[in-house]
Amino acid sequence: MERAGRDYMVLEAGPNRGREHIAADEDSAHLADPAQDPSFAPFLAQPGALYGPLSGYRRRVGGRSLYWRGICLRVEDDVLREWPVEVRRALLGTGDDPGLYARTEAALRTWCGGIQLTQARTATEQAMVKELAGLGYPAVPTPRAIRTLGQGRWEAYSPVADLPSERILTGHRVSGVRKRAGGGYSLVLDDGDGSTLDARHVVLCAGTVGNIELADGLLHGRSGEPRRYSLVDHVACGMLVVHSDGQHEAMESSVHAGFDAPSRSNLIVERQRHGEGVLLDAWTMGEQPPKATSTVLVGDATSIVLEPSARAALDAVRREQRNLLGELARRTGLTARFREEYVSFDEALAQAEARPGTAVVYDAGIGELDHESGGLALDGEHVDVSGQLREAPGVAVAGPCLFPRAGAANPSLTTLALAQYVVQRMH
Ligand SMILES: Cc1cc2nc3c(=O)[nH]c(=O)nc-3n(C[C@H](O)[C@H](O)[C@H](O)COP(=O)(O)OP(=O)(O)OC[C@H]3O[C@@H](n4cnc5c(N)ncnc54)[C@H](O)[C@@H]3O)c2cc1C
Repeated sequence: MERAGRDYMVLEAGPNRGREHIAADEDSAHLADPAQDPSFAPFLAQPGALYGPLSGYRRRVGGRSLYWRGICLRVEDDVLREWPVEVRRALLGTGDDPGLYARTEAALRTWCGGIQLTQARTATEQAMVKELAGLGYPAVPTPRAIRTLGQGRWEAYSPVADLPSERILTGHRVSGVRKRAGGGYSLVLDDGDGSTLDARHVVLCAGTVGNIELADGLLHGRSGEPRRYSLVDHVACGMLVVHSDGQHEAMESSVHAGFDAPSRSNLIVERQRHGEGVLLDAWTMGEQPPKATSTVLVGDATSIVLEPSARAALDAVRREQRNLLGELARRTGLTARFREEYVSFDEALAQAEARPGTAVVYDAGIGELDHESGGLALDGEHVDVSGQLREAPGVAVAGPCLFPRAGAANPSLTTLALAQYVVQRMH
């Protein structure tokens, strides 16, 4: 908006706790853990089995852009082919136009100081790429929009870092958007006295669940039967190996070891310091398949459910992911301890610590990856191909909620590219 020269205000529910990325200061790196973060606020008033108590906002200026790890992957080509043609062309470019993916990557490269997003950041990363390539993996340093700051500190790009402070109103949770009789919209503020703020245009950027709730309230009010919206996260599992000694650097190392077709997942291998030793975390993250999407029910209170029939499709992904990790363990000569049932990260870490050198598998629950997307798909039931609500012209939407299908890639590169797409089409 700033670059488009538009007059705007950002309304943020939380406070301004500074706009520095959490990894830029070693005293705040622990905030990645929701349980230790005072800004963490669950999405749901009553968290359920999916999107449980670890799934939520980081309610502060900058939101999760101050927590993300900067991993930038494009949505896979075969998934983009299911997106509206206009959006796909805008992302991938046509003729002389390099497209929004390439432009966004170039802007992130510039922010990183002109280096490639896949530039190795540590000597360990370089060595891991060589080792994994030798084992037959198409390995590259994980593409990340990060700047290293020395002594293990780093920061990932945040679109709010440079917003002028006078554009941001903190402590202003928007509880509803209403059409005004004379045109434009009123934003209802959750400040106890029902005050409102009028605007000609509105861009909903309250996270996927928040955007769905605000759009639903605008389109349907709060009454009647709960309305249903589709939602996906990613399906992820990993394996942990603790080496009680070994070379370690202050900064974590991360390698993208390719996309695996059977599990429709990306494979990422990471090493980081763990006490006096090293923790190897190889994880695979795949698509929550279209036939296994979750449903957001928006009514008096929002809830998120999964049809029992979707479980089989999710289990099939997890099985393939275990095969992928098992093959990695085999190629690297690791003894692996894999269980079929769900194993939490903390449980796996405790087991890996008890048996140094043994690979132990873990799973992430649906909703725990902060990659929730969909619900307000571009050119779908509620949003047109330009990113505006069909029934509320002048209300645009930004965020991963716009994805018609998510694929396996981490969402933020596409989210940033689509934000440009939507702004360019606002009248
Ligand atoms: C630890 C961690 C690591 C991650 N790593 C990666 C990664 O490497 N790569 C990647 O692609 N993605 C990653 N992600 C995911 C990525 O950060 C999110 O997909 C992205 O930030 C979502 O952006 P958003 O704008 O939709 O939501 P948010 O970042 O959650 O922003 C929404 C903002 O709106 C505010 N808000 C909500 N409701 C209201 C309301 N009603 N009124 C006013 N304000 C409101 C919230 O307080 C928040 O500040 C990671 C996330 C986390 C937490």
